[in-house]
Amino acid sequence: MLVVLKFGGTSVANVPRILHAAQLVIDKYVRDGNQVAVVTSAMAGVTDQLNGYLTQMDALTEEDGVVLAAGEQVTTALMAIALTKLGHVAQSFLGWQVPITTSAQARNAHIVQVNAERIKDCLDAGIIPVVAGFQGLTDDGRITTLGRGGSDTTAVAIATALDADFCDIYTDVDGVYTADPCIVPTARKIYEISYEEMYELSSSGAKILQARSVELAMRHNVQLRVLSAFVDLPGTSVANKQIEMGAQMERLKITGIAHKHNVAKVDIEAMSMDVLLTLLENAIPFELLAQYGHDGATHIALLVEMLYADKVESLCNELKSAKQISDGVVDRNVAAVSIVGAGIDATAIQSIIRICHENNIPVMSLSISNLKISFVTTKPNLELAIFALHTALFPLEEKGYRVPD
Ligand code: ADP
Ligand code: ASP
Ligand code: MG
Repeated sequence: MLVVLKFGGTSVANVPRILHAAQLVIDKYVRDGNQVAVVTSAMAGVTDQLNGYLTQMDALTEEDGVVLAAGEQVTTALMAIALTKLGHVAQSFLGWQVPITTSAQARNAHIVQVNAERIKDCLDAGIIPVVAGFQGLTDDGRITTLGRGGSDTTAVAIATALDADFCDIYTDVDGVYTADPCIVPTARKIYEISYEEMYELSSSGAKILQARSVELAMRHNVQLRVLSAFVDLPGTSVANKQIEMGAQMERLKITGIAHKHNVAKVDIEAMSMDVLLTLLENAIPFELLAQYGHDGATHIALLVEMLYADKVESLCNELKSAKQISDGVVDRNVAAVSIVGAGIDATAIQSIIRICHENNIPVMSLSISNLKISFVTTKPNLELAIFALHTALFPLEEKGYRVPD
């Protein structure tokens, strides 16, 4: 089999952990005769530190990629050295050496193409290629990064380009849970999940997999597994599967709860929707929470990553001075909660509204789709909201109801 293995920040956080991960590659895959390509993240905390330097610079520029990509440069080579020390020749590849070409958006580039020829040559020669996650280069040779958590997307892109049999994502938890297990200790492991449900969880803030990696895996049918680099337990398989409905018609079938805390809500009073075009022209990604009114008097509510809050605020101020909008307010004291699952029906909506009401959790904006209910609340109420919803939607007597067959 041909497999792609990705090791996240905690799995490569220091030299002993890199040696441990390299040993795992050999023991679990290479020794059984599999061909392996490895993708590494930066050491845990390193990208945050690099990001901190850029925050102090207070600019969003083309140079950012060179700074942010530095973390993966170190771990990729250290992993290649570790594998070679264990008796298996390995070679490191930075994004530009593969090459992985991307679009040009600073800090949020998208992969255009992976040219996997050099990686294939390595595999054919019995050498283990170790590819730096999170980075690529533009057509005109600038270094880019793929957005936070982007090594997952690198791994899936390499798996797609190699037509790999599967892609194993090694991290610090042993699978995908019904809520972030670091926040909700009673969260349960989900052993199998469809691409669609996983995409909804990830795009709603579950950082266990970058949403774009799930989207890419879904599009190219890449079998994904999420596993712990530290304990040998069955993980979560993300694949093409029928989305489970409740065992009984009227039973709620909720897959999990995800949240975003690093966000800001923007409320704009405008004459028209043109303000959205201005945001897009300024490369500001946003989620539209609500829009109502008509030409002449429109209210628009948006959610943006905190990274963009200052830029949106100054744009709003400029537009207000130019009388293109009548008001624009950025609220940084918010968080978003999403409940994902196939059972999003009237009963589910009633339960969620009731739980928020009983716990005095403010609901500032509510949106409902086939697979998801999302709402915005205040930051101080975030943990209470997650706990209250998880306790009610995943009662303890149901423990283990999603075990593998
Ligand atoms: P890595 O560096 O390995 O990519 P990340 O920190 O990006 O690791 O992702 C793993 C983290 O995702 C876990 O430590 C956990 O706190 C968080 N997480 C959020 N939601 C979930 C979830 N539903 N299931 C499992 N982990 C989750
Ligand atoms: N090192 C990058 C980050 O922290 C990419 C990744 O870990 O996936 O976002
Ligand atoms: Mg990650």
